[in-house]
Amino acid sequence: MQPAVTPLKNDQTFCFTCSPQAACFNACCRNLNQVLTPYDVLCLKQFLKMSSSEFLNRYTTENTGPGTGLPVVSLRFSDADDLACPFVTRAGCRVYPARPASCRTYPLARGVSRNRETGRLTEYWALIREPHCLGFNNGQRQTVNDWVNDQQIATHNRMNDMMLELISLKKRFRPGALSPSEKNLVFTALYDLDRFRRVLSEGETTFATSADTHTLDRPTASDRDLLLIAPEWIRKNVLTGVPEKV
Ligand code: SF4
Ligand code: SF4
Repeated sequence: MQPAVTPLKNDQTFCFTCSPQAACFNACCRNLNQVLTPYDVLCLKQFLKMSSSEFLNRYTTENTGPGTGLPVVSLRFSDADDLACPFVTRAGCRVYPARPASCRTYPLARGVSRNRETGRLTEYWALIREPHCLGFNNGQRQTVNDWVNDQQIATHNRMNDMMLELISLKKRFRPGALSPSEKNLVFTALYDLDRFRRVLSEGETTFATSADTHTLDRPTASDRDLLLIAPEWIRKNVLTGVPEKV
């Protein structure tokens, strides 16, 4: 059965409570296509105390966006019939403090549009009622804004919205599909932050220019700092510049 989708405004209310006591506990952590944003990967790899490369190799799959050639990173679900998330346990989500934005947002979904002239973002919300989810029965009444605060989604949304600017630049300067080597550069800068740090601070590969090394004159730059500079680096090195081989 298809989920019922109801558009909501930020100050509109909905009734929902998720609890380990619910008969459906963990049912939502199976049979998913869980795409991860760069900030999701950053939070998860830090929480699990892994390098970005280790995390990506162990827990994710990488695909290529049709038409754009951009990397698409998803959680690698179990091969078993239930397609379970690698982080779901009988007691619940074992990465709960670092769970991805879409897990925090559920049962809401968020869409964002960007005004081409002003760059202004407008967000849209919808309530997704899936038949297996029993959280709507006797759920607590709250506004969308209450839910965003309660689930601590705002920082995720801000960091994820940065990617819209990048997609807009991509459409403007580099329409069509990226080549595999261009995609590799984008993947490294957005998702494989520990490698990106090495690239910029040590010139690990040929694609760090001396200007980049100067820009990042701090080998200890935080993952967050790296992710903040990544879109500009991609603009310069992939979208408007001449990419070099990785
Ligand atoms: S299916 Fe709904 S109520 Fe059940 S655990 Fe998942 S989010 Fe919570
Ligand atoms: S990350 Fe956690 S909340 Fe999200 S699907 Fe996996 S187990 Fe469920």
